[in-house]
Amino acid sequence: MTAGDIREIIEGLEPQYLHAILEVALKRTSLFKWKLVQVAKKFGAIDADADYERLSLHRLSDLVSMPAIHNETYRELFSRYIDITRAAEIIVALKTGEITLVLAPPSIIGASGIFSSRDQIPPPTADQAVIATIRHRLARQEVILACMNCRKWKVRTVVERSPDHPICGNCKARLIAALKPYEEEQYGIANKKTKTKEEKEIERRLIKNANIVLSGGKKAILVLAAKGVGPDTASRILATCTDGDSLYREILKAERNFIRTHRFWQ
Ligand SMILES: [Zn+2]
Repeated sequence: MTAGDIREIIEGLEPQYLHAILEVALKRTSLFKWKLVQVAKKFGAIDADADYERLSLHRLSDLVSMPAIHNETYRELFSRYIDITRAAEIIVALKTGEITLVLAPPSIIGASGIFSSRDQIPPPTADQAVIATIRHRLARQEVILACMNCRKWKVRTVVERSPDHPICGNCKARLIAALKPYEEEQYGIANKKTKTKEEKEIERRLIKNANIVLSGGKKAILVLAAKGVGPDTASRILATCTDGDSLYREILKAERNFIRTHRFWQ
């Protein structure tokens, strides 16, 4: 297509048909396919672990033919990824001459659209989106840092503001346990003078937790902040020595495992 063809198409657009045009055009994008699979998982129509790259076209068209999934996919695409109202305003402004269409060599943004992808709108892969979400959630997760040496100091913070190697504000020890907010009362229990067998077990877990933070620092605090990840799972994850995305993948696996095994009594 020449630039002139493109100009003709843009100038021929009518704002009231934008929605219908996009509905047809979107179906051919990987953004649509990705969102369709995501919605289908939410509805339980396909397995939660299904890899969207591997689903057959046949299976995909099956999903498209389910009205609830079809409608929800479009609803999410049109409300979160596409701004029809603004696009219509731009087309109207072109028609009234308020905006002028000028042919020019590609800008940096334009060039990246031509050269970087086979698709007009490259979606994040499902994997990247999931990792970004857990990374964001854990960074903001509240944690309580509690000294297991003097047993007299604790502070509430979030993972991303935790020090690389926390130190007790009272006794300067580095034996600091990282607790989730709902585990805070365990600190009081572990510090009781006389303890039952169960209470001794809580204390043992907090000391193990603090030892993991002692050797793993902030990375250990991050892992311990994940859902259902106690000291045993945390030390297993940290022992794999992974970093970056693969660390988050390990955490995600542990959280999923926890949710799967605890769903019925939580
Ligand atoms: Zn202390």
